[in-house]
Amino acid sequence: MAEADTIRCDACPVLCHIKEGRTGACDRYANHAGQLVRLDPHVVLKRAVSHGERVVPFLEGSREWDGTLVHTPETFVTAIGAGTTYPDYKPAPFIISSDVDGADMVTVVTEGIFSYCGVKVKIDTDRFLGPERNLVRAQGEPVGHVTTSEYGSQMLSLGGVHHLTGGGKREGRVTCETLLDLCNGKAVELVIEGGASVVAQAGKAPIVNGALEERMRVGCGSATIGMFAKQWFGKVDEVVVVDDHITGVLSEHQAGKLLGIPATGIKVKGRRSTPGRYFQVADPGTAWGGTNITDPLLILGAWNPKIARAGLRLLMVSTTGEHYAYYELDESLHPVEKDLPASLAKSVERVAENCEPALVSVLFMAGAGGSLRAGVTENPVRLTRSVRAALTRVTCGGAPVYVWPGGGITFMVDVTRMPENAFGYVPTPALVAPIEFTLKGSDYAALGGHVEFIRPLDSILNDDNRRAALNAENPWPLAPASLPPKGAK
Ligand code: SF4
Repeated sequence: MAEADTIRCDACPVLCHIKEGRTGACDRYANHAGQLVRLDPHVVLKRAVSHGERVVPFLEGSREWDGTLVHTPETFVTAIGAGTTYPDYKPAPFIISSDVDGADMVTVVTEGIFSYCGVKVKIDTDRFLGPERNLVRAQGEPVGHVTTSEYGSQMLSLGGVHHLTGGGKREGRVTCETLLDLCNGKAVELVIEGGASVVAQAGKAPIVNGALEERMRVGCGSATIGMFAKQWFGKVDEVVVVDDHITGVLSEHQAGKLLGIPATGIKVKGRRSTPGRYFQVADPGTAWGGTNITDPLLILGAWNPKIARAGLRLLMVSTTGEHYAYYELDESLHPVEKDLPASLAKSVERVAENCEPALVSVLFMAGAGGSLRAGVTENPVRLTRSVRAALTRVTCGGAPVYVWPGGGITFMVDVTRMPENAFGYVPTPALVAPIEFTLKGSDYAALGGHVEFIRPLDSILNDDNRRAALNAENPWPLAPASLPPKGAK
């Protein structure tokens, strides 16, 4: 039985009874003098910069209007702080009309509660983080796994309904907390079974086993040979680019052949793929080129005495230029390490220079389920069709999303393109994320939208809104898809 001074929050399935002056379990709603209020300010975006200008930071903490008149086409209502639609048959909290260059546009905003959600984390590093499919743990709990690595990056898949709901209570809570922190741009320590410990933070360099990763490799070993072959030609007899995936050998590689570089009698361990390209030269690790070796000579066998000669010059370098060593063969055809000649130093610097800064990228991925869509239209499948037909634009806190082909509205969004602290949680456990649907008024009516709840933008703006400038990388969410953003040349 609820006490007299409590009210019940029905914004999520937890259904908290909140006492006067207290907040609910998620700290998003409170009881203020008997009224249920959403605590975080509702965020609206302002098109403060024209296309091509510098990124303007979000106006953190700014909750007051600056006195300028509100021009509705210059203001976009995000779902951040808008509130949720639970138990789902209710229309979305805000259904807003805007006049955009004479066209009547409608934006439907709601904070979705996502039990089916996760993040894909791309970590720019060659260093081996752990075997694919191995568990990733946070605070000792399994929160995801290592998935297929990409070109120069290791990939993690974290969250998902199985970790949120299918394990123990603590696993669900820690998974939710991990996702929330990553999505809100906080650093999280992840430990990979049989692998490394990684500190991941969206938009920042990863820290692998305590070491800051600075460079993303220029390419695989084979690609590096191709890119720099001409710069090595004539300055050295042989180059080996050590890479855990594809180690390249200049004299055998097609690039070396075309330049007329003669055979050197080198013998590389590992599985030969095509000429000058070797797989599995060592075990994966966090040393040279993502292998476990700290002495690159370990990947070489005996030189062929019929071809090799004393004095032959050999450069070994990793795909980031972080590791390198120069050798000359002695009379018994053993490589002897020497100082790197000045003529080669530049090429090694060039490999490093061509590496991009290593970053952690976090993409939030979720499905806008049937219930969330019901807040937009009485006939949810029509919203899906409208998104497919590109009549409805989906954004997350004003940031563009990628919608997966196939059924449903399964989308991904780069969290660094969203306003800060755009995500919340409820203890079911699930993540709360903003989602907006923008379409023409006539299309909204045609898909059975809740047109009777449409209200003009001006009617919901007040001093409690938090105004944020649009991230300049993002297209203006209200711009017609066929037109370039305002100010674009
Ligand atoms: S957890 Fe938050 S949203 Fe859910 S009922 Fe409680 S206060 Fe409301």
